[in-house]
Amino acid sequence: MRAITELLRPELADFKSYQPEGGHYRMRLDANEAPPEFGPRVRDELRAALADMSFERYPDATAQELRSAVAARLGVAAEEVLLGVGSDELIALLLTAFARPRAASDPPTVVTTTPSFVMYRMTARLRGQRVVEVPLDATWEIAEEAMSRAFSFAPPHLVFIASPNNPTGTIAPPDRLERLIAATPGSLFVIDEAYIAYAERSELDAFRRHDNVVVLGTLSKVGFAGLRVGWLVGRAELVRELDKVRLPYNLGTPSQALATIVLRNLWDEVTAVVAGVKRERERVAGAVAALGVEVTPSQANFLWLKTPRPAADVFSGLAAKGVLVRSFHASGGRLAGQIRATIGTRAENDEFVRCLGELL
Ligand code: PMP
Repeated sequence: MRAITELLRPELADFKSYQPEGGHYRMRLDANEAPPEFGPRVRDELRAALADMSFERYPDATAQELRSAVAARLGVAAEEVLLGVGSDELIALLLTAFARPRAASDPPTVVTTTPSFVMYRMTARLRGQRVVEVPLDATWEIAEEAMSRAFSFAPPHLVFIASPNNPTGTIAPPDRLERLIAATPGSLFVIDEAYIAYAERSELDAFRRHDNVVVLGTLSKVGFAGLRVGWLVGRAELVRELDKVRLPYNLGTPSQALATIVLRNLWDEVTAVVAGVKRERERVAGAVAALGVEVTPSQANFLWLKTPRPAADVFSGLAAKGVLVRSFHASGGRLAGQIRATIGTRAENDEFVRCLGELL
């Protein structure tokens, strides 16, 4: 008899699940969350809403209130919004939906950049899809020619572009992006704007100019990662099709209600925290540059740093001091010298700079 595990998808055999670093650290600057700096009004409003909430019934399957709150915040129509359990769920949902092989025995293909957010690659591979990762150029920006070549070599179903990009903090140059989108009408471009609150410009309107564009957003990076609320914005006819893949009650009652309050009543608090993080980002960038670290100009809530010592040593040195950042040394190559550090509270940032200085 065969072992039951032999019935599992073959992709699982050499797959590791996404595991946030465990262990206890004084400071976690590894997950690009916003620092806990909201005033009491946020806690009070959310607590009051929870006090009145009941849980016997399923949540609203269409999450009407939240969809209209997201739509109003973004200036789009509710029919152009699809909600997910974080943008992670929407990435998975896109990969499930856009999976018709272009030819028999030809797996659906995904193109993304490297380095970029790992879940594009992981979620696609888990579905048996082919993933092509095109290296960013020397300044960590999209390499237009190399992308075009990848598209002609294996026409992708989906192209994932994080802008600002995780882990580099760079945005996709609008002219390059526009040309790639226009030249590749047979592929859906997913512009992932998870960090857009910290950037100078958004490409949200691209979905109006092109029918092969959707844009992702999330509450996770602006103070509400715990709610697990993300959105996709796209043409209404596409959103209708994608909605067939969504599980009916994906967002629970608390997430729907609290996220609606955040978007409708508490956005000025969000904006204030974001502005503080942006100020700190520039302050920390200056301080670490003074230590001899090469800082990539960031449009996100984290810094992408090239350290004079190998990133593996800096990472473990910081960890030993109770400071957790992200290191990409396992990938080797030019990533072996890079770490990514989330902007935290002012005190955390000072401590990060101090610890980094001790190691360099
Ligand atoms: N996109 C990017 C570029 C990210 O960095 C992240 C979070 N690390 C996500 C999406 C997922 O965010 P969410 O919490 O909305 O699932």
